[in-house]
Amino acid sequence: MHELGIAESALELALTQAHSAGASRVLRIVIRVGALSGVDAEALRFAFTVILPGTAAEGATLQIDPVAAIAYCPACQKDFFPDTDHFFECPTCGQLCATVKQGRELDLVRLEML
Ligand SMILES: [Zn+2]
Repeated sequence: MHELGIAESALELALTQAHSAGASRVLRIVIRVGALSGVDAEALRFAFTVILPGTAAEGATLQIDPVAAIAYCPACQKDFFPDTDHFFECPTCGQLCATVKQGRELDLVRLEML
């Protein structure tokens, strides 16, 4: 489960930020997870429940903001929402487009601290 490693890095980053802000507790962790990031939101949530206890972020709320995948068709010069993770077929002209404009995000975007 590679989500555990991701959760650990995010937690480390959160604790570092909390420390440099002089906060003693992390109340909320907000992470953006793109549809194409390869991360399972539920597995990530579970990983956090495993690693948070005993840290300054114990009991913190984990908020996962999903980011939809958006691909781009150069032939039509249009964005579209691909309907699977692997085939980016333009709904207008049927071409396969490899240009991903959005959906690979995996970012710690916000922390609430005390
Ligand atoms: Zn097209």
